[in-house]
Amino acid sequence: MKNKLLNLSLKSKWMLAVGVTIFVSYALISVVLYIALQTWLIHNEEKNALRTVDDMTTYFESQGNTVTVQALQNNTALMKAILNQEQTVRVFNLDGIEVMRINDAAPAAQLPKNQNYFSTMIEKQTISGSENYVIHRVVQIGQFQGIMQLIHPLAAFQSMMNYILTTIFIIGFGAILFSVMISYYLANMLMKPLVQLRDAMSFVRRNGFTAQPKFDYTAKDEIGDLLHMYRTLMNELEISFTKQQQFVADASHELRTPIQVIEGHLSLIKRWGKDEPEVMEESLNTSLTEIARMRKMIEELLQLARREQADEQASADIEQVYEQVKEELLQLYPNAEFHLTVNGDKTAASITEHALAQIFRNILSNSIRYNSNVPNLHVTIDYNELQSPISVTIDDNGIGISEQHLPHIFDRFYRVDASRTNKVAGTGLGLSITKMLADKYEVEIDVESKLQKGTFFYLKLLKK
Ligand code: ADP
Repeated sequence: MKNKLLNLSLKSKWMLAVGVTIFVSYALISVVLYIALQTWLIHNEEKNALRTVDDMTTYFESQGNTVTVQALQNNTALMKAILNQEQTVRVFNLDGIEVMRINDAAPAAQLPKNQNYFSTMIEKQTISGSENYVIHRVVQIGQFQGIMQLIHPLAAFQSMMNYILTTIFIIGFGAILFSVMISYYLANMLMKPLVQLRDAMSFVRRNGFTAQPKFDYTAKDEIGDLLHMYRTLMNELEISFTKQQQFVADASHELRTPIQVIEGHLSLIKRWGKDEPEVMEESLNTSLTEIARMRKMIEELLQLARREQADEQASADIEQVYEQVKEELLQLYPNAEFHLTVNGDKTAASITEHALAQIFRNILSNSIRYNSNVPNLHVTIDYNELQSPISVTIDDNGIGISEQHLPHIFDRFYRVDASRTNKVAGTGLGLSITKMLADKYEVEIDVESKLQKGTFFYLKLLKK
């Protein structure tokens, strides 16, 4: 049963929940109202009947000691005015014989057995199929003592209650029908975009990211948010999917070349190497260089593919990291000249030392490697007290990069001089790694370059 309910469609669950809630609340309110009304109305009927009996008693007492039942019977007009049309009053003598009757709307009720012991007795009695309040009271009319019987029919009260009950049922039925209709409409309206979303998902599953699903739901509520999120997620997935495909294609293409070179040289060695030691020497050297390049490329590719989460707690001393990279580079390029200028009070940057060192290493080593004359490298660090980013400028006086190439230098495998004869063995991945790290730690990176003048790299690092 529970499983059956759980497996119902969302629309049915919604309608069932609304229907049951409205039905239960309405039923509870109706029962309480009905009981309260019934108690109040029946109490009113009882009060009316008792008042009539009191009025009749007062009337009998006001007639004095000399009045007879006969005299009263001859003039019933006043007494009829005390009663209402449905009430009947009968007076019996103590032997139970009727001596007077005012109105005749209902047949007489049975007199109580122990007449001597009561003054007023009230009870509910059914007389010829209909319910009545029957009140008996001992009365004194002049010298005559007898029993007054009032029959107060409850037919009006009962038809009032029946009317209320019918109204409750009709309104209740109408309310439930109305609410089910409204909830059906609402459920349909709310489910429509979800159904569209499900269809879109299954379409993407079958056909890939080829088609962009269209949703006609434009409201800015939770469902609108969900659709928007789905669209954004799909776009991001598509972008990363395309990037990944591009990456695999580029990587296999780039790796194919060194393998072909090594293959060529190995065949050379196999054919001529034994006889010509120079050929063997040269081929082995070239193969080793290509293998070293391949290893570097694979390491860098792995680094790009890894994409670990940024370390929120990271903090780096820019000058210290710079000095460390400078020392490293001076070992490799002893003739390079580095000049550092620092402005402002030292503050830590929000990046790991490892990532910052790699960014510096890539930019600085490019400046040395790609410039034939030994470059004069200027590094300026600006700690601005008022501005949050710490600005770092790295400029060289080298060959520069032409406008045509400049926008692409951060792309994977992009090399300005792609020909293999170029003396500088690069993978074209250095600046993509720099960009990836910069994005990860929210470092803004910009480049300006002029041919034969030099290249400027601008970094803006968040303060820790
Ligand atoms: P790699 O890892 O092969 O060095 P990068 O991605 O670091 O490649 O650089 C991309 C291209 O940008 C290089 O091929 C190089 O021609 C050019 N480049 C980068 N920095 C400089 C610079 N300071 N001066 C001249 N050319 C540069």
